[in-house]
Parts: sequence; structure tokens; C-alpha cells
Amino acid sequence: MIVMKFGGSSIATPQRIHRCIDLVRAELENDPVVVVSAHGKTTNELIAAADRAMEGTLELASILDYHGSLLDELGLERELIGPLTEQLHAFLQGVNLIRELTPRTLDHIMSFGERLSTRIIAAALSKAGVPATAINAYEIGLLTDARHGSASPLPGISEQIAAGISQAEGLPVVTGFLGRNARGDITTLGRSGSDFTASILGAALGAQEVQIWTDVDGVMTCDPSLDPSAQSLRRLSFDEASELAYYGAEILHPSTLVPAIHAGIPVRVLNTLHPQDEGTLIVPEPVHSPRYAKSIVYKEDVNLITIASPRLMSAVQILSKAFDILSLHAIGVHMATTSEATVSMVTDRSYSGAELESAIAALAELGEATVEHGKAIICVIGEELKGQVDVLGRVFGNLTARGIKARMVSQSASEINVAFLVDNSQIEESVKALHALVV
Ligand code: ASP
Ligand code: MG
Repeated sequence: MIVMKFGGSSIATPQRIHRCIDLVRAELENDPVVVVSAHGKTTNELIAAADRAMEGTLELASILDYHGSLLDELGLERELIGPLTEQLHAFLQGVNLIRELTPRTLDHIMSFGERLSTRIIAAALSKAGVPATAINAYEIGLLTDARHGSASPLPGISEQIAAGISQAEGLPVVTGFLGRNARGDITTLGRSGSDFTASILGAALGAQEVQIWTDVDGVMTCDPSLDPSAQSLRRLSFDEASELAYYGAEILHPSTLVPAIHAGIPVRVLNTLHPQDEGTLIVPEPVHSPRYAKSIVYKEDVNLITIASPRLMSAVQILSKAFDILSLHAIGVHMATTSEATVSMVTDRSYSGAELESAIAALAELGEATVEHGKAIICVIGEELKGQVDVLGRVFGNLTARGIKARMVSQSASEINVAFLVDNSQIEESVKALHALVV
């Protein structure tokens, strides 16, 4: 059995949907279970429709037209999605009336994207001679905690999911991105969460492989829009791929690999537009290449928080108190360094505004607390780094040659990455300087 996950852009047009159907057909002997995202940019459209409803405008036409014309061009009846679009309309009407959009309601509204796409893809497969059934993952046991917008699956759900899949008639086409909490409310696993669903299902089913079908040539040596000489990587270890996802490679949802790692199931990232390419295979064991490292990634727009304390408190005390304060504000830290009397911490751009301000006010009790915005983490990743004595020398040699000053250098205990901080405006220059080391 294999899991084949198709992202939004892979199923954005009737032509692309036909390609996906051919890809599924070619794997029939491997018993595929299909996971899909919402068609194209539907999730964004749903969020926009919900926001508009909050402001008093009920406007669904573009979503309905888009899905309607997909159905027309696939030769399917528009009635197929009638009940779902009516429900969606009713929900938006509710938001419009009450003028309130809670994370719980937004999750419910976003869920229509995948509920629609699974219906359409299952019908298109059936019409093409591959009988298929649409399945809502949350109805076959994908239980999560109650964190709307970025829910995590609960432990111990595999058996029920496997039973649910085995009862499906024909080929199962399962909603990505969606779960359900103990109260029975629909939850979402975070943006791009369909990858995560694919890996949860892969682990539950003991799949031979989880295939993530995207619109790029697998995982690259760096962002090709920054350096066109970027190449795709054939193999990566789980550890490398997790670091890549964590430090911003947008190709994989950061939690995607966790269920697969636990179950030891390889994950393959493939391009729907070039299906003959073997893509990137992510495997449990370390992978060594003859290169210096595997990939350069970056996370832009992070915040640097610095606390300079008068000598009354040691860095150890400041650090522990600072972490307590940040965790009270639910602010995560990507990097931290300490010195005798200063502590520096890097936090994600998603933490900003009032939340960040109130955390800074609390941190000011510990010392002089400042925030610098517009920073970026650049990270070099590769199992190869482990064996090298002069990792930092090479990395910083290349940067200094271009006049780039890196701050807050950190190397993970696993020694497979080196990360540092620059200004947003230096991302391209830094990535290029280091990319020269890996190609
Ligand atoms: N449709 C969801 C999103 O746009 C999930 C996904 O695409 O993986 O974030
Ligand atoms: Mg994606």
C-alpha cells in the first residue's frame, strides 16, 4: 500500500487533475490511498470569503464558479457538490449575521475546500474507470487536540484510521488538512497540513511509501528563485528533512515527517509536471553525498529579542525566566544565545503585534529588553557537516568575502546544521554565497 498526496496546484485545473488520475492509475497494483488538498488556492479564497462575511459582504461566486467549471470540464454534474456549497453558504451567512469569526468557525469554513476536492477527485477517478470513494478523515478517526488552526493528532488513532480506510469501497480519496477534536468540531492541522495527513495515514496503514506530489522538482539545494543554479536533491535523511522543514523550506509542512519517522516509512517528494523524475526520497538513515552540505534554507522576517541585564541576575536565571515569560505568551523560540549578561532569542514572525508587545513588557522586568524586526535565519544543512573540522571557517569565509556579517551563530547538537542571523535584505546574498559550497 502507498499513500499519494496531491497538493492544491497539482489539482488546480482539469488538465492537471487528468495527470493525477494517470499517476494513480499507474500505481494501482500498489494499492494507493489518495490524499488531496483543496483545489488551487481555495483555502485562501475561503479565508477571504469568511473575512468578507465578517465585514458584511456575502460573496461566494468565485469559489462556486471555479468548482462549477472544474466539474463541467471534467464532465461531472454540478449537483455533486450542491449540498456542500449550500452548507458553506449557510455558515458564511451565520458569520455575516453574527459578525464573529472564531478560530473554530474558520476551521469549519476552511474544511469545505478539502471536502469539495475529495468529492470531485473521487468522482473524476470513478468516471475514468477507477472506482473511488471520498472520505472525510475526521469521520474515520483522525482525532486531534482542540487547537483550532494548528491542531495536532492525538496518539493512538492509527488503528481506527486503518479500519476506516479498509472499509472504504473502491479507492479511498481522503481529505488532507482536517481532523476533529473530542467535542466533534472540525479542526485543521495548520496551513499546508495535507502533507501531515498523508504521513499520519501512511503511518496508520504501514504504507511502503508516502508520495508527496507537488509542482516543484523535489527538495532543492536552495530556493531556485534566489539562485537559478539550484538543483533537486535525490536523497535526504529524515533528520535533514526535518531541519529543512523547520528552517523554512516551504515544500514540506514541518510536522509532516514525524509520523513517518516513527513508523520508518520513506517519504518521496515528486513533481506532477515531471512525473518521470525520481524526485527526492527521504529515508530514515543518514545519507552522505560528496558535497560540502545538502541545502541552504532561510526563514525570513523573524524577530530578535535581546535582554541586557544589570549584573544582578546571571544569564542562566535570565534565560529560564525569559523562557517562562515567552511560553506564557505562547511564543516559540527558534534560536537562543547567552553571554555573561545578555540573552538573545529569535522568534517567528507569526508572533507579533499585541502578543509580542506584552511579552516584551514582561521581559523588561529582567533587564533592558529590545526587539529588532526584519531579521532572517539562514541555515546550512547536511549530514556531511558532521565530519568536517572547518565548518564554521568555510561558512563564514564565504560570507565575509561578500561583506556579510552574521550574528547569533548556532550549530545543532546533531551537527547537521549551522544557523545564523542576518538582515532580511541580506538573504539573497547570503544564500548565494553559501550555495556555492553545495553545488
Ligand atoms: N488546503 C490547505 C492549505 O491551503 C492544506 C494544504 O494545502 O495542504 O493550507
Ligand atoms: Mg503544500
